Amino acid sequence: MVILDGKKISNDIKDEIAAEVKKMKDKGEKVPHLAAIIVGNDGASLTYVGSKVKACERVGFESTLVQMSNTTSEIELLDKIKELNENPEIDGFIVQLPLPKQINEQKVLLAVNPDKDVDGFHPTNFGKMALDMSTFIPATPFGILELLERYGVETKGKHTVVIGRSHIVGRPMSILMGRKGFPGNSTVTLTHSHTKNITQITSQADIIISALGVPNFLKAEMVKDGAVIIDVGITRVTDETRPRGYRIVGDVDFANVCKKASYITPVPGGVGPMTIAMLLKNTLLAREQHNL
Ligand code: NAP
Repeated sequence: MVILDGKKISNDIKDEIAAEVKKMKDKGEKVPHLAAIIVGNDGASLTYVGSKVKACERVGFESTLVQMSNTTSEIELLDKIKELNENPEIDGFIVQLPLPKQINEQKVLLAVNPDKDVDGFHPTNFGKMALDMSTFIPATPFGILELLERYGVETKGKHTVVIGRSHIVGRPMSILMGRKGFPGNSTVTLTHSHTKNITQITSQADIIISALGVPNFLKAEMVKDGAVIIDVGITRVTDETRPRGYRIVGDVDFANVCKKASYITPVPGGVGPMTIAMLLKNTLLAREQHNL
């Protein structure tokens, strides 16, 4: 069994990006600039955004954090997005989700200039992805592809089962695993909360990508010997023995599933760190495109 070490691979990617940024600096070029908008004080969101800003510093990017209050109106947020769309200094930006109830998420995603949409959530970019065109791929699926590629995990002709159909992970993942090329060329089954007999389906899978957010959902009896297991789940579970009062748990019953798996991602240290690295990669791509 091989651990797909997202922490190590994400550090390799950050080193590669830092080397690119150094070349830009040496040539006197502008370095990539990522901005993040966060609305409200959700603890997990603040942690994620904080990690993204720290990652920018690590590779030599400029970064801007825009913090807006929980009572921000939709118009105020759309105005801020317009400002970032029009600011030539900013190469790419993200709007951290979830948003407060008074704000329509779809309107917000549609307002982001697709050329700066480094999350790859705008329909223009999502459509391009589905049509095999070069574009920003959502960071979490992009990170999973990169892990599979760097570890040389065969995907061609394999049966990939994706659990969860969210717009940011499961749905794009199912499209990417089925497209032509490597990683891809899989036969894909996309499952969700209405799927019947899920154990019957997962037990036939060569590759399982679990993104539902239910701790320890995927048990050993749901997995065949030699399967590749990708655990996207991140759930905070109360744990008074930890300094923060919680621990992070994935969707996979790792202790038992790892005995059957050929490759498996741990939580933490698997898909999570890859997501941030690929956001940086998308921002580098945005910078390069703005330079053309
Ligand atoms: P989400 O929007 O929370 O949706 C969950 C999906 O799981 C839905 O499609 C739902 O089906 C499906 N589902 C729920 N119960 C199910 C069941 N019993 N059997 C099969 N499918 C079931 O998903 P998300 O935003 O992708 O998040 C999923 C998990 O990944 C969360 O733990 C999140 O924190 C984590 N995550 C991690 C990263 C990372 O960087 N590692 C990034 C993003 C998300 P319906 O559509 O029918 O409701």
